[in-house]
Amino acid sequence: MNLNFSTEETDFQQEVRQFLQDKLPKDIAKKTKDGLHLSKDEYVQWQQILHAQGWSAPNWPVEHGGTAWTPTQKYIFANECAKAGAPDVIPFGLKMVAPIIYTFGNEEQKQRFLPDILASNVWWCQGYSETGAGSDLAGLKTTAVRDGDEYVVNGTKTWTTLGQYADWIFCLVRTGAPSAKNQEAISFLLINMHDPKITVSPIVLIDGKPEVNEVHFDGVRVPAENLIGVEGQGWTYAKILLSHERTGIARVALSKERLVQLKELAQGSPDGANKLLDDPIFAQKVADVEINLLALEYTELRTLSAISTGQAPGPESSILKIVGTQVIQAIDELYVEAAGYYSMPFVPHQFEDDFEGQHIGSDMEANTALRYFNNRKASIYGGSNEIQTNIISKAVLGL
Ligand SMILES: Cc1cc2nc3c(=O)[nH]c(=O)nc-3n(C[C@H](O)[C@H](O)[C@H](O)COP(=O)(O)OP(=O)(O)OC[C@H]3O[C@@H](n4cnc5c(N)ncnc54)[C@H](O)[C@@H]3O)c2cc1C
Repeated sequence: MNLNFSTEETDFQQEVRQFLQDKLPKDIAKKTKDGLHLSKDEYVQWQQILHAQGWSAPNWPVEHGGTAWTPTQKYIFANECAKAGAPDVIPFGLKMVAPIIYTFGNEEQKQRFLPDILASNVWWCQGYSETGAGSDLAGLKTTAVRDGDEYVVNGTKTWTTLGQYADWIFCLVRTGAPSAKNQEAISFLLINMHDPKITVSPIVLIDGKPEVNEVHFDGVRVPAENLIGVEGQGWTYAKILLSHERTGIARVALSKERLVQLKELAQGSPDGANKLLDDPIFAQKVADVEINLLALEYTELRTLSAISTGQAPGPESSILKIVGTQVIQAIDELYVEAAGYYSMPFVPHQFEDDFEGQHIGSDMEANTALRYFNNRKASIYGGSNEIQTNIISKAVLGL
């Protein structure tokens, strides 16, 4: 992949910039840049704008609605979006379940599910984790017992991100006999969240937001046609999906943009002197993050290059996950340091849409504590960083 842009690539960059300037709603961009939570409607609005442009699924094969962009074009697109303040697309449909459906689903499933995912007409969530089955995912206990043309599902999933909005959930369920080996008894099932035998209970995170949930299945009858691929092969599909998930978690373009903003914040000072960025210790910390981010960017580009040739990301997605989340958390910490006292007034209500008062500190500073606390999750979700280290030691280093 060559990062010296050709004339065509520079033209493409201009086209993306123009599109973002014309079509990205200003209020959504402002909220994204200030690190505020977006509503379901705002996410859907943006994703449908992308869809109208034909740009909602750059990584999909063209025959299903992908863009056929080169890795360099995807790089340009991601970077321009981050600079403009475009929100990340919600990954569960477009980036996670869709590749599993178009790779392992049958024709009927592709036609039934992919167009609505592409157009963001439906909201998906991920039903993998359970209490006691997070890192040890193969120990999951939710059962799906075949009864004629249906599976009967019982159990509870947890940490289900934004499941309160979801129309569908993709689930790992236990279909094999209790005596079957753990991983051979797992299947991949698509379940309609509007079934009355499903209940969703919110879990409030440390920033006061109900971002994750428990999802309870109490005798939910699921048509057998919603099984993806072969019964008992769910573990294989699950691992491929996770490699897509982990690649996305690196969020390099976003971190690059946030580092630029951090430097702006650290350049400011009321009297024009004593800038934090001139402090050698702070400057050293910023430089450390910047170096890690640059190395991460090149690793991500190698992975994107492989995905563009139709391969699933390999175990290197674990490297992206670890370093990407370390960088995100390091930047958050530096923001808190740069904002100083202004990161302390942790008043969640000031971030609600109906808040009419004034933020304490600048918009850039007001959210630093909220973001710092919220992003502690990044080294846990998608498989904790300790587990990624185990994967690297086995699958990359052969230890
Ligand atoms: C904000 C958030 C959103 C999430 N969203 C979703 C979602 O949408 N859908 C979903 O299915 N899941 C989701 N998860 C779940 C996430 O994947 C799990 O939390 C994660 O895999 C860790 O599992 P656990 O919480 O059960 O911790 P445990 O597995 O109990 O681990 C606890 C600690 O022990 C360490 N540990 C465990 N085993 C080992 C080992 N073998 N070697 C070294 N260290 C080990 C872990 O690293 C961790 O620090 C989300 C989690 C969070 C925090």
